Amino acid sequence: MNPLSAGTCAAAPAGEGRRRQRRSAFEGRKLEKRLVRLTGQAVSDYGMIGAGDRVMVCLSGGKDSYALLDILRILRARAPLSFELIAVNLDQKQPGFPANVLPDYLREQGVPFRIETQDTYAIVRRLIPDGKTTCSLCSRLRRGVLYRVASELGATKIALGHHRDDILGTFFLNLFYGGRIKAMAPKLVSDDGRHVVIRPLAYIPEADLERYAQTKRFPIIPCNLCGSQENLKRKQVQQMLAEWQRRFPGRVENAFHALARVTPSHLLDRSLFDFPGLQPTGIADPEGDIAFDEGPASAEPAQADPSTAEPPHAALGSARIRPIAE
Ligand code: SF4
Repeated sequence: MNPLSAGTCAAAPAGEGRRRQRRSAFEGRKLEKRLVRLTGQAVSDYGMIGAGDRVMVCLSGGKDSYALLDILRILRARAPLSFELIAVNLDQKQPGFPANVLPDYLREQGVPFRIETQDTYAIVRRLIPDGKTTCSLCSRLRRGVLYRVASELGATKIALGHHRDDILGTFFLNLFYGGRIKAMAPKLVSDDGRHVVIRPLAYIPEADLERYAQTKRFPIIPCNLCGSQENLKRKQVQQMLAEWQRRFPGRVENAFHALARVTPSHLLDRSLFDFPGLQPTGIADPEGDIAFDEGPASAEPAQADPSTAEPPHAALGSARIRPIAE
């Protein structure tokens, strides 16, 4: 056998493996950089964290909360201002919950933490008949415990791991089933009025958090230990968004950006805009309302194939020459 050719054959797969490893490490670093940047942007846009803050990071053992803690730690190390992080997990005594996973991980990472044990699972089982949805009582109990722990720890902020698609999904749930224009706030005062809750991952798509969790090999704890069925309506909305993502590139991003570009004068909420007091200004405004013409949104073409989609300016143009009575 030709030793050279033998050497080449044996080295090729190893070389290929190393190339793949390097590539994946590079992609991992790129992803981390992007997620850190987006989180930093959201934190700054909504004034989520200030100097001297003690941020309680709620850690469930799911991919989102692991990513939240990990990214906030990176930001903390780089931030020009000083703030503290403390991870908190509520062990709700769900059957099969691996109680050692989070403490082991947090110790290994050197993160200060507190594990709070409260058997809310038993309370929920006792109070909710079989077959009924348990989530609302469960989350109410969990909220109460976390607020108490935040007070005990002197936390000035409570950070949750909700991401862009949670926010958008909630928006459509409220729109379709609640008849309200309302999403999930990036920063809010808790319902007991005593805490400020922040969502630093507000700008991050869920798919990126999935990839991040794989790259970082977080020790994920399954989220179905309570045996509760996933909310069917939320699931349908998630499927709708996933379908849009697949068939209409850019639509989900546009819908999300729209949440930060609201025009109260063009909605119908009288508490947000003084319609009765509206008067002509007497000043022409080239950027002003075109009144009778359809806006670009209502002229959105049906984009069965994104590669043949009409560009927005063309859609706007065709809308403008449409007769008013049409
Ligand atoms: S899915 Fe289970 S743990 Fe989560 S809120 Fe519902 S009942 Fe509670």
